[in-house]
Amino acid sequence: MRAYRLVCCACGTEYDDDGLRLACDTPHEPSLLRTVYQASGLHAKDPAPAGSVFRFAWLPVVRAIPGSPGPVACRAEELGRALGLSDLWISFSGHWPERGALLPTGTFKDLEAGVVLGRLPDDPPVLVLASAGNTAAAFAAACVREGARCLIVVPSYAVGAVSAAAGRADGVGLVVVEGGTYDDAIALAEAVGALDGFRPEGGIRNVGRRDGLATCLLSVFEASGRLPRHYVQAVGSGAGAVAAHEAAGRLREHGCPDPLPRLLLCQNAPYAPLHDAWHGRRTPAPAGPVVAPELTNGRPPFAVRGGVREALVESGGTVVVAGGDEARHAMALFERAEGVDIEPAAGVALAGLAKAVRAGRIGTDDMVLLNITGGGRRRLCAGSGTVPVRPDLSVDVVETRDPALLEIAAKSVADAFLA
Ligand SMILES: [Zn+2]
Repeated sequence: MRAYRLVCCACGTEYDDDGLRLACDTPHEPSLLRTVYQASGLHAKDPAPAGSVFRFAWLPVVRAIPGSPGPVACRAEELGRALGLSDLWISFSGHWPERGALLPTGTFKDLEAGVVLGRLPDDPPVLVLASAGNTAAAFAAACVREGARCLIVVPSYAVGAVSAAAGRADGVGLVVVEGGTYDDAIALAEAVGALDGFRPEGGIRNVGRRDGLATCLLSVFEASGRLPRHYVQAVGSGAGAVAAHEAAGRLREHGCPDPLPRLLLCQNAPYAPLHDAWHGRRTPAPAGPVVAPELTNGRPPFAVRGGVREALVESGGTVVVAGGDEARHAMALFERAEGVDIEPAAGVALAGLAKAVRAGRIGTDDMVLLNITGGGRRRLCAGSGTVPVRPDLSVDVVETRDPALLEIAAKSVADAFLA
């Protein structure tokens, strides 16, 4: 029996976790499951190495995955001065050795991947997931470290984001949808995940992902002893924002008197589906490139019970957008102030924060947590000599868009992987 239970956000049904469950069995509207932990303290009884993400008690895991550093929390005084904020904190998930940040692939997806693998039962089915880049790199690297098996489906434009070291291990299969979009990759991953011996990883529905991401907020609480007044993050599906909201609620249930942080979520202009959903607008079709493509999930789980909409309502939060120039300006500002490069998505978050300060939405003495979800890639890439990886298998996009062909393609992908 595990030291936590899963609870349905819609009907309250509780489950013992088998390490794989993604949803409630009761027929009702779409709903997330969330974890309820027995442990009342922040830190695990079996202490993991200092700095490991597994030092936290509130993770739905049965094992710690080696080589899984956590996010780094610190005050950003120089950046705060530039923005006119006196109490700015950052959670940094990336490569910044001077501050102790050593995430293997340079983004907060490493936090998700380690915890999802730590949650799996013994002798698990093969996890299947679709990714447009960072998630694929993180899961591939974590599976290599753990010796776990997974099948990753990526659109062909994203192959370059998966590092060579990650792609070449036994047990990690990389399938490319030639000429396809992220949505085509998702369709193929769902079809393979439904076959015997395979399971969909689940994305935001996987409590391992969300509670892994929650360590960004927990590490700032660990360092400051407080909940921030505002929590700022760039979002695609919104998993990280929901995770932070859940973690803040958990801290309050265990005695923290601070109010729930107000979520300030940021997306790319001009294509911002979560922003549009929150403000009650229809999202127009994508028009041209955006600075951070990983934020372009066209079907974000906005209205699902326990999801982004509820988190925004409960926290008094909102969603803003930043354009490419604003994000690039913010990336340069961060590097000037703090001395490390950050990913475009983190630039979108910082640009959104700067706008909210200028608009008076955030008080100059409010405690603010800015989640830097990826950074330090310039040196990370220079260090590892990353080269594009050869896919194990490729599927033409035509095969993913016809239901009959999709079924055949999924079976052949599964057979090839198991062979
Ligand atoms: Zn339910």
